[in-house]
Amino acid sequence: MTGPTRTTVATSVPASDTRTTAARLRFRLAVVLAVFAVVPLLVGAVLLALVAPAHARSTAVDAAARDGDAAAVALTARCDAVRASARIAAGEVAAFATRNGGVVTAEAAATFAARAVARRPGSAAAVFDSEARLLGSAGANATRRTAIGIGAQDPMFGPSCAAGRADSTGDGAGLAEISPVLISPAGSTATPKVASVVLWLPLDPASLSALRAQLGTTGELALLPADGQPVVLAGTGPVADLTGLLRSLPSAGAVEGTTEGFGYRLVPAGPGLPYRVLAVDPVGGGGLRILGWLLFALALIALVPVWLVLIRLTRPVAEELTAADGELEAGRAALADSLDRFGEVLAHTHDLNELLGTVTGTALTGTGAAAAAILLVAEEVDPPVPADRRAPADQPAPGSARLGVRSESGLPDPRGEHARAVLPGFAERHFATLKSNSMVFREPHLTELAGAGPVAAIGVGVDALPVETPAERAPGRRRLIGVLVVARGEGGPAFDALQLTRLRALAAQTGTAITNIRRYLEVRRLSMTDTLTGLGNRAQLVSSLSREIAAASRGNGVLTVLMLDIDHFKMVNDTWGHGFGDVVLRDFAGRLLACVREADTVARYGGEEFVVLLRDTDVEGGCRVAERVLDAARSRPFEEAEVSQPVTVSIGVAAYPRDGRSADDVLEAADSALYAAKRDGRNRWRVAEPSHNAPIPSLPG
Ligand code: GH3
Ligand code: MG
Ligand code: MG
Repeated sequence: MTGPTRTTVATSVPASDTRTTAARLRFRLAVVLAVFAVVPLLVGAVLLALVAPAHARSTAVDAAARDGDAAAVALTARCDAVRASARIAAGEVAAFATRNGGVVTAEAAATFAARAVARRPGSAAAVFDSEARLLGSAGANATRRTAIGIGAQDPMFGPSCAAGRADSTGDGAGLAEISPVLISPAGSTATPKVASVVLWLPLDPASLSALRAQLGTTGELALLPADGQPVVLAGTGPVADLTGLLRSLPSAGAVEGTTEGFGYRLVPAGPGLPYRVLAVDPVGGGGLRILGWLLFALALIALVPVWLVLIRLTRPVAEELTAADGELEAGRAALADSLDRFGEVLAHTHDLNELLGTVTGTALTGTGAAAAAILLVAEEVDPPVPADRRAPADQPAPGSARLGVRSESGLPDPRGEHARAVLPGFAERHFATLKSNSMVFREPHLTELAGAGPVAAIGVGVDALPVETPAERAPGRRRLIGVLVVARGEGGPAFDALQLTRLRALAAQTGTAITNIRRYLEVRRLSMTDTLTGLGNRAQLVSSLSREIAAASRGNGVLTVLMLDIDHFKMVNDTWGHGFGDVVLRDFAGRLLACVREADTVARYGGEEFVVLLRDTDVEGGCRVAERVLDAARSRPFEEAEVSQPVTVSIGVAAYPRDGRSADDVLEAADSALYAAKRDGRNRWRVAEPSHNAPIPSLPG
């Protein structure tokens, strides 16, 4: 016997990596969102960080310029006021001198000096005669000394705001005006100078601070005489540290610029302004830079909502992908499982029905079909005895026109049900077409079938059995015995290449499996058949009897066994030869079959012994059959050519459960009864004694 072939159906399921796909998708979206949301913020932040310092520097320079110009204007105004005060005082002294004959008294000088100081608080005034001798003065002591000093140096051509010349006295900066006292005596056009008035307004840090406060500046102010050293500083900032810068500045012209952390403006001295004015403002711009960093931080923080939005946006996609992945995984598992089962069944089953179910199930999973059907037919084989008597009786006998048909639907979908209904008919027609055209049947035939949608059909072939013709036995030749059909269902998609490959493999494996089953059944049949008579042999009889007893025991049934032995058969052989003995045996087998029902079993038990198994028959019924058999044997002689030989038979009758509960017990009882029949003279039947050893004669045979 050829062993069952272990088969596997190769499948290739495209590897799915949906988790990676989802992650990749998320990453790409993140990049896109980052580019549109985060990157602009970052760029803005960087630009701001780059631009802010320059902006801050120019802002500081602007502020310094504004402060410097405003301070220069304010100082010029103050110069004008000092000059005006000095002129008023000179006018008052001149009026007095004119009235007093050109003489200015010390008393008058002190009075007018005091008036001038009263008009300009903080100032000092001094009056000198035409010989530069001090006549009188007023003002705070220190200030008054400075005013007197200025007048003593050069009372006629002294420093003047109008000249734009600084008056540095060593005591600090200030604004000085020397105004000549001219009189016009009556009747004369000459205007002799009789005195001069000096007015001095000091500019100390306190007064400069007041000016700075009045201008509303946040920076520093410094007044520089032409020779460089700042003489008056105001503010609390870094001006004191700027000595180096101040020294490096040109002595003429307006200058502005930035130094480390500050913007500055130097306003030149000029008419009405005796000092250069330096304004310094700190470089701010911290705000903008902070704004830049804020933007940067914002960009980073924005990544979080961007990521959250992203997750939210991609979640459905990811879920869908994961679900699809799960389905794919489940589908793959189902396919692997059904292929496993398919392999198992191919390897071990000899049950066609189980095979058909497995094939259709695997076809459904393997091809994604909505319905699948398989049709198998069997060829006529000339049986030596009627088909229904051939052994073994428990398997579908080759020779029936149809080995099997099975149709299955894979989906609860009604499309699958419709397809399932029409597939067997289609399979039948397709089989006939393949058969009549002797077409190549190993390639799937694709068509569209009403009610079933896209359909793929492929032939199922088997290897030739030993009984078949040499042509059919040629290597690689397979004979078409069936059709495997799968359908998508109405409106379904066409089958793809992978699915058709699986269908092809499935059909081939099915053919192999059926070949194996056929071989197995044939070998089994041969092993249980007596080749001389075509009846079942002892093994088959024991197997059938055991099965029948088991069935009877389940349903309180009965059955009867006849054990037969041809009388004096040795003599027949000896007289006519072994060949004639065989003729008798075959003829007897035929007569025996004619005496029983189709449902009964007749077997050659060995030599010239036979056993008849009568289903649903009690011992009385068995005796009636035994009587018929006796008659059949002796009714006419056994003949061949010239030879004609009467033959009789002896029969032992035993029944289940009357004479035993196992096959062995019942057969032993029948054998004892047969022995009794022989002992009692042959050509008769005897029923088993319940004790087996003392059979009693029944009706005479
Ligand atoms: P009894 O009436 O007591 O049964 O006598 P018998 O001669 O029938 O019994 P025995 O057991 O002495 O002889 C049986 C004979 O059957 C012996 C054997 O040669 C013969 N025999 C057994 N099998 C075959 C067979 O297949 N063909 C032929 N021709 N003879 C066979
Ligand atoms: Mg015998
Ligand atoms: Mg005999």
